[in-house]
Amino acid sequence: MSFSNFNFHPYIATGMTAAGYATPTPIQKQAIPPVLAGRDVMGLAQTGTGKTAAFALPILQRLMQGERGRVRALVVAPTRELAEQIHQSIEKLGHKTRLKSVTVYGGVKLNPQVDKLRRGAEIVVACPGRLLDHINQGTIDLSRLEVLVLDEADQMFDMGFLPDIRRLLRHVPARRQTLLFSATMPAGIRTLAQEILTNPVTVQAGTPGTAVTVSHALYPVGQHLKTPLLLELLRHTDTGSVLVFTRTKHRAKRVGEQLEKAGYRAASLQGNLSQNRRQAALDGFRDGTFQVLVATDIAARGIDVSQVSHVINYDMPDTAEAYTHRIGRTGRAARTGDAFTFTTGDDAPMVRTIECLLGAPLERRTLPGFDYSVPSPQRDAEFARPPREPRQARKPEAAQQAAPAAGSRTAAVAPPSAKAPKASRRRARTTSPGSPSLQAQRSR
Ligand code: AMP
Repeated sequence: MSFSNFNFHPYIATGMTAAGYATPTPIQKQAIPPVLAGRDVMGLAQTGTGKTAAFALPILQRLMQGERGRVRALVVAPTRELAEQIHQSIEKLGHKTRLKSVTVYGGVKLNPQVDKLRRGAEIVVACPGRLLDHINQGTIDLSRLEVLVLDEADQMFDMGFLPDIRRLLRHVPARRQTLLFSATMPAGIRTLAQEILTNPVTVQAGTPGTAVTVSHALYPVGQHLKTPLLLELLRHTDTGSVLVFTRTKHRAKRVGEQLEKAGYRAASLQGNLSQNRRQAALDGFRDGTFQVLVATDIAARGIDVSQVSHVINYDMPDTAEAYTHRIGRTGRAARTGDAFTFTTGDDAPMVRTIECLLGAPLERRTLPGFDYSVPSPQRDAEFARPPREPRQARKPEAAQQAAPAAGSRTAAVAPPSAKAPKASRRRARTTSPGSPSLQAQRSR
């Protein structure tokens, strides 16, 4: 099957050629026909499968006909980075169509978004918090909405966005096409799908597990030896771009600094950075300015950097789903990748869960020549303990976004997720005071 089977408008076909798309990916083959036919779709697709284009292309096709200057398609995504990425894909694919896409997310000023919305756009790509601010202030009109897309729905659920999504649903027309994409299918998403989709077509790319092009290995190591092991691994491994995941913002920052100090072009991407700095770290990683990006789950969700050769879990993720998503950053678009996970004794239960998910035992590796016998320096020396987010006042995610105006939505309290431990849910919805500067410049 080729893209010509779908009879896309010549302007859209030009966009696909410019993006280098010759053949549809499996999720595109399955999803494009029902979306073009106006059906609701439940898409179970891992990251890196081409799911953005699976909904973006038929949406562009639909919008070529009909009214311009009104918001007719809305894509909701959990993170700003993902929203930006989807927006850029739409702009690239729809370059010749003159259809306008606008992003709506927090951490940046509200007024430029208001201006852009006022000038007229047919597509809005938004994060839930800021979108609700615009709805409450009457700066977005969704009364003409035809298509609603919820992307990475399981992550929205994990981040406690479900109440926001339900609130949003009160402001969009009941008669609409709804597309729901999720990499995994926890019970909460199944319920949401039943509530909001009408007679949906379910499409699935691969098993809802991890990319088959990724090889996995565990590196058992003491907590205090993680950074030396990371440095040694990087020294001995032929890597392209490397994405390192830590459990907390503080650790992401510190590990990024330690790598920089060791001479690596490294940056950190975590929720304490301003949106501009988050974007700068991500852009620098994409264009090769930074070889290593150290990130927390929240910050790195959904990012598409196709040349990531290695994902290194400096800290074990909290859930098997988070493992899937982290690992989905490598092995994208049929490339191969390696996933290394540092494990301590505390991680044994999660290792078993992941092995269950993958359906095979994970290889345990030791790095030849690395001195595993170095004792922990002090009981409470930094990184000698498992990561724990410092205690701090709770603040809803929306509060970290730039100055929501008076009368904006009240803070939604995250509902308990079925699987995320309390601490990780709290992390997902809170932010530390202060905004440390990005220690992420090109090293010599
Ligand atoms: P996504 O899963 O939407 O994040 O896409 C993963 C990557 O695959 C992105 O870099 C896309 O540009 C790329 N991609 C999507 N569709 C195709 C296609 N049909 N052919 C080649 N690359 C594609």
